[in-house]
Amino acid sequence: MANKGSRGICLFCGAAYAKRGMTKHLSGCKKRQEAIGNANSGATLYHLLIQDAYSKEYWMHLEMKGTAQLIALDKYLRSIWLECCGHMSQFSIGGWRGDEIPKSSFVQSIFEYTSELEHIYDFGTSSHTLVKVVGKRTGKPLTKHPIMLMARNEMPVVTCMECEQPARWLCNECIYEDNASGYLCDEHAKNHPHDNYGEPFELVNSPRMGMCGYQGPADPPY
Ligand SMILES: [Zn+2]
Ligand SMILES: [Zn+2]
Ligand SMILES: [Zn+2]
Ligand SMILES: [Zn+2]
Repeated sequence: MANKGSRGICLFCGAAYAKRGMTKHLSGCKKRQEAIGNANSGATLYHLLIQDAYSKEYWMHLEMKGTAQLIALDKYLRSIWLECCGHMSQFSIGGWRGDEIPKSSFVQSIFEYTSELEHIYDFGTSSHTLVKVVGKRTGKPLTKHPIMLMARNEMPVVTCMECEQPARWLCNECIYEDNASGYLCDEHAKNHPHDNYGEPFELVNSPRMGMCGYQGPADPPY
């Protein structure tokens, strides 16, 4: 799964940047500046870097309204990355065993005293997500929704476990029972012998692939 030089796309200008360069790019992106305009009064908006705690090639940049509640971020993470079967989730501060923060909390009250949060989805086969404030502005929101997607990693390139060609499918049975990567190209997915965990499914851009019953679609909710 390791993917050196994870890259992502800025959704304002369409340019690709390395993970390390995206925070800086977004703060100076001309298209974003045009969209934001010159207003320096209005809403407080937080620039959040979201990344999977273990598979760091999965990341995104969100802008979130300070007046929104954490429940909106939970819903967003479920839609774009996590939801498989309606598991419980939790936000906390100071590590996974740190203090739980109620989902009804308003974002600006939380980010007054911390710039980092952890999110857990599913207390069995857990997905851990790190939330970090990397910027803040006062001005006009660019969406009527609580959250706007500003940038996201490109789908990591993985290779077929049979032939090393680019893979587009994943077999959960290979992962769970054979301790194999489970990645398959079109050709090798066709007659793959496993179906105890369902047929091989198409890869999606989510760190939860291969965990529990997750099969995507890994699309933003709005
Ligand atoms: Zn840009
Ligand atoms: Zn599940
Ligand atoms: Zn193959
Ligand atoms: Zn298999």
